[in-house]
Amino acid sequence: MENGKPTFTDVNTLGEFGLIEKLTADITSSHKSTIKGIGDDAAVLQYGDQHLVVSTDLLVEGIHFDLIYSPLKHLGYKAIIVNLSDIYAMNAVPTQVTVSVAISNKYSVEAMEELYAGIKEACRIYKVDLIGGDTTSSPKGMTISVTAIGTVAKDKITYRSGAKKGDILCVSGDLGGAYLGLQILEREKQLYLSNPGIKPDLENQKYVLERQLKPEARKDMIAYFDKEKLVPTAMMDISDGLASDLMHICKASGVGAYVEEAKLPINQEAQMLALKFKLDPATTALNGGEDYELLFTINEKDLEKIRYMPSTYIIGEITGAEDGIKLHTSGGNIHPLKAQGWTHFESNQ
Ligand code: ADP
Ligand code: MG
Repeated sequence: MENGKPTFTDVNTLGEFGLIEKLTADITSSHKSTIKGIGDDAAVLQYGDQHLVVSTDLLVEGIHFDLIYSPLKHLGYKAIIVNLSDIYAMNAVPTQVTVSVAISNKYSVEAMEELYAGIKEACRIYKVDLIGGDTTSSPKGMTISVTAIGTVAKDKITYRSGAKKGDILCVSGDLGGAYLGLQILEREKQLYLSNPGIKPDLENQKYVLERQLKPEARKDMIAYFDKEKLVPTAMMDISDGLASDLMHICKASGVGAYVEEAKLPINQEAQMLALKFKLDPATTALNGGEDYELLFTINEKDLEKIRYMPSTYIIGEITGAEDGIKLHTSGGNIHPLKAQGWTHFESNQ
């Protein structure tokens, strides 16, 4: 209160994570079956001798997707994938999804069928059942909300909070590609808006465009872990960028970490494009979001189990909390690792 008037705080002063923390700090569970509520990639519920995991995500037109360059079929596919990725991040197997959409009248039946073609394809490929949802109108644009449900044996559940000093830090694939794909699409959009006659130049960028428009979730990694009888000590999926997401693991686990810049996996096409955009390829790998790779830590004794695992890269190590989160640069320097991350709040206009 100021001069008897209520004061209002701009949500941007807290950012996305700060706001979630403020709104949920006093939320407690009253059911014994709620094993883990807010604070991980998915909530974990007691379900017989298994755990049930539940995760939900919201995609908003103009914030998370732009239909100028995102085909509706790809968008439907991606909406499912980003949710399944959170289920895999718990070392669980997704089984069902619900899909809710709010649409304005600019969308035709045919457009919605395109969206659903992508949704159905993802459900078919990832073997999940679409079991319900909700459909409503929106004053503007489209919003898609997906909830994914999965199961995992109790002794295999993997939280963000289990990393221990000395654990090895791994990532399941190359990073930065999806961000560079977005840069290309944004550049072509601007060119198109200034001259609609111009043909988009999307040659030799197939890999990064696919990373952005039609990502996959790492179903195969969960199968490898199972086959190798390996349970990571901590895991999350990289949706906001390695630096930001590693901070979540470190905060939840009460540890520090270092990342070796020279070990960051970067696809060759992404590397070339980063340089073309005058960006440091390592920065795009550290801070580019939406790669949906798994960031995980393993006990040193399990090193042999991942050595021959396809597309697994060792990028650093877990240290004590007092050591903070550091980047060991290729030039031999050590810097605190800063997360640029993403905030989705629009300016107040
Ligand atoms: P992710 O990026 O893995 O989807 P988020 O950063 O969106 O995770 O969310 C972090 C945690 O906060 C999750 O446990 C999520 O369920 C919870 N959460 C996010 N938004 C809300 C909200 N509005 N109310 C309650 N819990 C929320
Ligand atoms: Mg996640």
